[in-house]
Amino acid sequence: MPKEILRTFLLLLVTILLFSAPVYGAAIKTGQKLIILDPGHSKKERGLTTPMGSQEHQITAELAELIAGKLNDSFRVLSTRRPDKTGPQSSIPPEERAAFANKSRADLFVSLHLHQRSHKEAYIFFHESPPASAQENLQAQNPATASLSKKMAALAAGHLQEMPEVRTLVRPAPLVSLEDLLMPGILVEPFSISLVPATAPDRADFLAQYAGAIAGAVREYFDNL
Ligand SMILES: [Zn+2]
Repeated sequence: MPKEILRTFLLLLVTILLFSAPVYGAAIKTGQKLIILDPGHSKKERGLTTPMGSQEHQITAELAELIAGKLNDSFRVLSTRRPDKTGPQSSIPPEERAAFANKSRADLFVSLHLHQRSHKEAYIFFHESPPASAQENLQAQNPATASLSKKMAALAAGHLQEMPEVRTLVRPAPLVSLEDLLMPGILVEPFSISLVPATAPDRADFLAQYAGAIAGAVREYFDNL
């Protein structure tokens, strides 16, 4: 009798291991959406700089790291750049970033840049081919992808303008960095480079607020797909 119980128990254990574990693993793998964060510029091509020493390529990389940290628990997040301490070789050249996202079969592409216009304005762009070139361009973005990009842009604006005094502008634009994407994508300029605090702790707090808003928009986008 004890032998029989042991056999039943082992059979049950084998069944659980055979069927539950692979299903659970597969659900994790296939269920996670892939987001590509694209911190604008690189060590070679630094983007905007200020007399105070702020550099756009550094700030966008820090912001991307903070956004990734807020999304890692429920999404796969890849970056087109690594933190600068790992060296200049770790950047994907800007002209190859869309191809990288396509090859990775990403679900969403978020490019991060800064501006130097009015301090509290956030600009959110999505790609729209001008009508004339759309006729010549056989690879024009499919309408479903374009409309999802527009939706993501509106969500990013919604979350950013919940921050004190932030005013947002959403605009379609013929953007070279987004035009080859096969998935929805936006380019965000969340703040002016002149607004970035010079000291490290203040800067981290400042960036964390913007990272929270952008990560919040990404979550809402996938929640409502
Ligand atoms: Zn830029």
